[in-house]
Amino acid sequence: MSPDPDPVAVLTDRLARLAELAGTSGADVVLITPGPDLAYFIGHSIGSHERLTCLVAPAGGAPSLLVPTLERPGWAGSPVERMDVRISTWTDGQDPYAALAGLLPTDARVLSVDYHMPAVHALNTQAIVPGSELTLAGETIAQLRMRKSADEVAALAAAGAAIDRVQGRIGEWLRPGRTENEVAADIAAAIVAEGHERPDFVIVGSGPNGASPHHEASDRIIEPGDVVVIDIGGPMPSGYFSDCTRTYLTAGGAVPDRVREVHEVVRRAQAAGVAAVRPGVTAESVDAASRSVIDDAGFGEYFITRTGHGIGLEVHEHPYLVAGNSITLEAGMAFSVEPGIYLPGEFGVRIEDIVVVGESGALLMNKAPTELIVVGG
Ligand code: ZN
Ligand code: ZN
Repeated sequence: MSPDPDPVAVLTDRLARLAELAGTSGADVVLITPGPDLAYFIGHSIGSHERLTCLVAPAGGAPSLLVPTLERPGWAGSPVERMDVRISTWTDGQDPYAALAGLLPTDARVLSVDYHMPAVHALNTQAIVPGSELTLAGETIAQLRMRKSADEVAALAAAGAAIDRVQGRIGEWLRPGRTENEVAADIAAAIVAEGHERPDFVIVGSGPNGASPHHEASDRIIEPGDVVVIDIGGPMPSGYFSDCTRTYLTAGGAVPDRVREVHEVVRRAQAAGVAAVRPGVTAESVDAASRSVIDDAGFGEYFITRTGHGIGLEVHEHPYLVAGNSITLEAGMAFSVEPGIYLPGEFGVRIEDIVVVGESGALLMNKAPTELIVVGG
């Protein structure tokens, strides 16, 4: 085991790279409000409701952090205090945007804002800087966040192992006669018990509800012989997310041929997507690898989602595995591979693993078996 890297050194390096990339993207300054981007660059993110908290990262310049005076104690002891970041405050009754303008390079005109900045802050900041233009910094920031370090991959692996333990226990809770909501409540408790900070989503899509990919849970009573999509995840204390889907069948006689067939097609599609992952291929080629299996089996019109999404400090982030995304995969990129078949009025099947691009192929963060599992017998 190598010793944990110094968080201050890691964060300082990330900010230096942001200052470099901001310049090449044409931004004069990148502005980041509380959320995952702020956590990524300074190791901590405190929401300040409607009050403005903002990291100011000038292209090629030294960063500063503006926080409301009343929030300043919350930053005590956080890594930013040990970084070369000037911390400024503004107090209720002052104009926070004037305070922010005072931290910008004097000739700043292209203000690049993170995806999560509330419109009220973005537009008020633009209004106070004459002749300024707003751009989105999300793709610039993604250049950094997409490429996970060994420590970030370890955090994703820990998240994957934790959610695998929950998937391994589904048979304890999923059985005919219970409602989706009852099953979801037990799963949510187990997500925390197995090491997550909180559940972020608990999808229990039984029978026809499984045909809606983002159905959450309802009062529907689960019946014998139901196909049930269980898609669950949340952030670990590290901030890194898990996200894993398995499809189950509640006991109720022989497995219907149609269910067996559809599940097997999705399983082959998911395996084909994972097998296509390696450095140098495009994101859309992984989508195509999964999709062609489902198309060839005649279910193409029922695969109504992209194949996957990046994952890290957010459950959905770059890169997206979708037709039209020609970004080249590199070692360290992390994303889901989650094809599905959604048959309206009947049932849905989805299988989802998180993978990281390794030097010679996909590294699986989830290891729970992908077979159709019969429960509640
Ligand atoms: Zn997902
Ligand atoms: Zn999922």
